[in-house]
Amino acid sequence: MLEINEIFGPTIQGEGKRVGNPSVFVRFGKCNMQCPGFEVEYETPSGIKKCSCDSFYASDIAFRDEWKKYTSSESLIEEVSKYLPSYKADIVITGGEPLLYWQDQEFQNFLKYWIINNYSVTIETNGSIDIVLNQEWHKNIIFSLSVKLSNSGESLQKRINIKSLKTIIDFTTESYLKFVINKDFLPLASKEIEDILKQIPSCDVYVMPLGDTAEAIDKNSLSVIEFAIEKGFKYSDRLHIRVWNNKRGV
Ligand code: SF4
Repeated sequence: MLEINEIFGPTIQGEGKRVGNPSVFVRFGKCNMQCPGFEVEYETPSGIKKCSCDSFYASDIAFRDEWKKYTSSESLIEEVSKYLPSYKADIVITGGEPLLYWQDQEFQNFLKYWIINNYSVTIETNGSIDIVLNQEWHKNIIFSLSVKLSNSGESLQKRINIKSLKTIIDFTTESYLKFVINKDFLPLASKEIEDILKQIPSCDVYVMPLGDTAEAIDKNSLSVIEFAIEKGFKYSDRLHIRVWNNKRGV
């Protein structure tokens, strides 16, 4: 069963390699991490106070009752198609952690439909889950590997899966890494990113400023740009936050 927190678009992709592309977002529910280090405070429907990332409503199963359930890929494709413009917008699969559904045949059917119909499909993932890539069409999926660093508050064992990163980067043609960094964390981030890059095949690396408001992004962006220039990484802004301040559904 596919559990969907929200579908929205057409809007633009606000970050990473396909920034600026008109896109429809499909946000899956559930995550294998909590990332308390991102310090977004919220309250669950039953009134429990917690701390996680800005996608807590999709990552925390306490919100599951609000997620829409799809038992077939066809019904989800039909729903997503309602959001598509008259041209081929990108399909962005996000979460939560969408790769928790990788082994579900309906998830595979859903992805395959868009790929074989020549849509650009990006999966936004934390890259920590082992998956099997064995279909020719899997090569065309863009995995946006948002690997978590220690500022996420998660343990090294949980957040870094070198085997999974290698599998994805080796098998696909356009997958890339992206790291969210705040300026106080730069020296440690530099070391942690270096440690990861030493162990995986080369691919594009993007660094992005931490922040869930335009003001917070502004505080971090110059330092992160300077860091990108120093290290030879690519800088990605977070346009959706600058324009919409992380308002949901745009
Ligand atoms: S891995 Fe991503 S979606 Fe999951 S809790 Fe961390 S930041 Fe949120």
